Amino acid sequence: ELDTISEKAASKGGGGDDGGSRILVFVRLRPISRKEREAGARCCVKIVDGRDVYLTEFATENDYLRLKRLRGRHFTFDASFPDTATQHDVYSTTTAELVEAVLQGRNGSVFCYGATGAGKTYTMLGTIENPGVMVLAIKDLFSKIRQRSFDGNHVVHLSYLEVYNETVRDLLSPGRPLVLREDKQGIVAAGLTQYRAYSTDEVMALLQQGNLNRTTEPTRCNETSSRSHAILQVAIEYHVKDSSNNIVNRVGKLSLIDLAGSERALATDQRTLRSLEGANINKSLLALSSCINALVEGKKHIPYRNSKLTQLLKDSLGGACNTVMIANISPSNLSFGETQNTLHWADRAKEIRTKSYDAHEEMQMPDSETDQAKLLLELQKENR
Ligand code: ADP
Ligand code: MG
Repeated sequence: ELDTISEKAASKGGGGDDGGSRILVFVRLRPISRKEREAGARCCVKIVDGRDVYLTEFATENDYLRLKRLRGRHFTFDASFPDTATQHDVYSTTTAELVEAVLQGRNGSVFCYGATGAGKTYTMLGTIENPGVMVLAIKDLFSKIRQRSFDGNHVVHLSYLEVYNETVRDLLSPGRPLVLREDKQGIVAAGLTQYRAYSTDEVMALLQQGNLNRTTEPTRCNETSSRSHAILQVAIEYHVKDSSNNIVNRVGKLSLIDLAGSERALATDQRTLRSLEGANINKSLLALSSCINALVEGKKHIPYRNSKLTQLLKDSLGGACNTVMIANISPSNLSFGETQNTLHWADRAKEIRTKSYDAHEEMQMPDSETDQAKLLLELQKENR
């Protein structure tokens, strides 16, 4: 009986009956830090009714009506989390439903986006005491599998990878860079570790260790580089009987992505040395923005090929996939500009509709040289 239910849900496909399901966009405000307070920062963000975000700099409390009329001061999202929200609040509102869908053979992805220090890694990975979305999702997955006595049928594999400086690395087994290849399931990183997970207990340690394998700056060796993107992929494989009683395999894939810092070109002293690196990381984010824009505008050609990140995330963006975006922001007025940028970008992301389409046709499109040239120009402007 369960198999029939799964079968039905899976055959519905990614887009749903309306031809496209909307991307869900959330905002999470983190608490003000000691460092910010010591620097004399004031809080410039207010979350109202669990949805509305107001940038209150230069406005008095309860000036919401006026802020609503100002451009770029008021935003509304599917849900907005105040700084008192727990990891569980964030998980259950943003990701729990995706986990359910993935168990039925669909794909889902969750992105954390925002400036460095805004709380992306805290939201995604969290700490031992307060595990984040990655860990809570896997925990929930195992408990759902157990509850329904699916056990034995469902096989869970984890892979954790990094995109840094347009290089893809295996975070579970550091070594040589991985090459991206296209196969029947889409674009895959050849040789990537597929870790078979049996329980939640081992996962937190595994992910913490993986996170330590992320690229760090030579100058600040304990801190993950703000230019590093981390992608956790959870694949759930199971079999069902089809209408003629044949056993068929299904795979649902959940991608959880801790994006690089979204701030504009980083102000570094070693400018010449780093400019290429900086440009490359921006290249991935910029390519992500271009894809989002193209999706929003309903373009036929989505420039996935412009970066490693967008190649890897192709089926997490435009394919048959449920997508969740969590924009992380700091409350500090010293980060006003970054926060406004993040919110603006998140606001735009609300307009994407994911739909099924002929993935094959898209893949065979050559890289457009004008696209690349345009991208470069934008980058140069940004890095000036
Ligand atoms: P990012 O990954 O976006 O650069 P982090 O997740 O590392 O930022 O967060 C920066 C700092 O703020 C870390 O010390 C983190 O523990 C803390 N922090 C972030 N979000 C929260 C939160 N919601 N509650 C408590 N501390 C947080
Ligand atoms: Mg981080």
